[in-house]
Amino acid sequence: MKTITILVPCYNEEAVLKKFYERVQSVISNIKEYNFQYLFVNDGSTDSTLNIMRDLQSADSNVHYIALSRNFGKETALIAGFDHIDSDAVVVMDSDLQHPPEMIPEMISWWQKGYKDICTKRISRDDEPPFKKFASKLYYVILQEMTSFSIQVNVGDFRLLDRQCIEALKLFRESQRYTKGMFSWIGFEKKEIPYQPESRAAGQSKWNYFKLVNLAIEGITSFTILPLRIASLLGCILALTAMLYMLFVIVQTFLYGGDVPGYPSLICTILFIGGVQIFFLGIIGEYLGRIFNESKHRPLYLLKERDGKPVIKQEFH
Ligand code: UDP
Ligand code: MG
Repeated sequence: MKTITILVPCYNEEAVLKKFYERVQSVISNIKEYNFQYLFVNDGSTDSTLNIMRDLQSADSNVHYIALSRNFGKETALIAGFDHIDSDAVVVMDSDLQHPPEMIPEMISWWQKGYKDICTKRISRDDEPPFKKFASKLYYVILQEMTSFSIQVNVGDFRLLDRQCIEALKLFRESQRYTKGMFSWIGFEKKEIPYQPESRAAGQSKWNYFKLVNLAIEGITSFTILPLRIASLLGCILALTAMLYMLFVIVQTFLYGGDVPGYPSLICTILFIGGVQIFFLGIIGEYLGRIFNESKHRPLYLLKERDGKPVIKQEFH
């Protein structure tokens, strides 16, 4: 019998974790063709989330958990989970019940048909402000234009992944992780099924605009160097134009004498070029920062506990 692991990154989810487990349990207890396991990843929660995991683990032999040594962020919690999975497929879910577990049977049926990556595509999030919707749409268009592989739009992390995909994802050891992009990058047979996300059952979302903007920049800088290319091209064009203008000014000065009134155009040009330079320096800095971070070759995460036992020797890096 094949095994499917439900992988759940959790950060301060004491309010919902129990409820989550019960609701998923009620769905998977009706699926008899597969063995199910849970792998909870405690991402450095500061509340009693870890205690709840310990309780669940001692009560149900199919529940496993790993605890990271601090909060590493959801993306890192996910790779930590992938590293500790040896089942035939994984269903990645948020612990706040925004991902309806009732969709699991449908996902499995597509997996049986041979798809390797069954992802859920959000139909609409009514509780989202219009600006956020617009910004996210624009972002996807830009990201798609800039990258050479097809980016999945509005696809969340709620998905079923075949072992083949997990093994592929485990090869991505970069520390600044943009998992959404990685899912698209690896390829394999993908199936998108529509779903309506529910509102958070309890607790607080850990996202804010600042984090979203960071993630957006991460997405672009980790999958394309096109901004650098644009910077070089624009730099060339500006330099060429400036040179032509210089010639023009020299000739004009020789023919008609100095052109004293010209302050407005001068200051405009200086400010414009200065602004462009600083902007492109920023872009270069983004990539340089990435090189800096990756060149340290640090482990992606550290474990402090696994299934009730303290982790002394870190095995996965
Ligand atoms: N999460 C995590 N580490 C973090 C932030 C979030 O493991 O640093 C988990 C969180 O517990 C939840 C999932 O990631 O299971 C999604 O988080 P959240 O609901 O805050 O995000 P949203 O649904 O608002 O995008
Ligand atoms: Mg959520």
